Amino acid sequence: MRKWYGVSLFIATLSIFIAIALVGSTQAADRPVLRVGTDATFPPFEFVNEKGQYVGFDMDLIRLIGAELGMDVRIVNTSFDGLIPGLMANQFDCIIAGMTVTDERAKSVAFSTPYFNAGQVIVVRTNDQSIHGVGDLKGKVVTTQIGTTGQLVVDKMTGLKEHRVFNTVPEAVQEVLQGRADAAVIDLPVAADFLRSQPGKFKIVGKPFTNEVYAIAVRKDNPALLAKINQALKQIEASGKFDALYKEWIMQ
Ligand code: GLN
Repeated sequence: MRKWYGVSLFIATLSIFIAIALVGSTQAADRPVLRVGTDATFPPFEFVNEKGQYVGFDMDLIRLIGAELGMDVRIVNTSFDGLIPGLMANQFDCIIAGMTVTDERAKSVAFSTPYFNAGQVIVVRTNDQSIHGVGDLKGKVVTTQIGTTGQLVVDKMTGLKEHRVFNTVPEAVQEVLQGRADAAVIDLPVAADFLRSQPGKFKIVGKPFTNEVYAIAVRKDNPALLAKINQALKQIEASGKFDALYKEWIMQ
């Protein structure tokens, strides 16, 4: 009797251990997923490398945030102007896309603590002698990316010959390089990255003429996620990992 009691106790204890181990392992396999919207045509923040992977400053940053939150990151690649509608339609949980905080966007989404300073610059062909600042864009053909702060600021300019809007920044810049347009208006760190990867092809005119900050966007009905992202950002900055990303992607 006593013997059987001992054996059943042993089996019961063992089953509890097995059950705990199983729950532990399924939890590891089914970690919660953070669905992240981006437009991966914006180096050095988000782009697709030769292996077909999503890489860049923002991609590393959001993976660090995912690690802090114990979540697996799933990137959803879409056009820039589809990002806020996609977030609102619950196709993803947040957006990281070199997205500038604007009052207009803040009407529909909530922004995290800003993580990057940027601004718009004018990009022209290396041999251009006629454009030295915003005033010189009068009478010129200017390109931008759809739905961006670049498009917004150029929309407000008067006296341009034409404003052509493209789906991606690389297309907007290509139009200038091919001689079909005179200037592109894009974010400074992206212009600087193109200059590094295609040296001698074009130049950046002067300094940024807007002041912008990038932040991560979440739906307003998800303040819990926003708080977690802000907390993770703090941790990543304090640990020096943020500076390491900056060195790797921005200051090469
Ligand atoms: N920073 C600009 C904006 O928010 C451009 C972003 C982008 O093209 N990915 O509009």
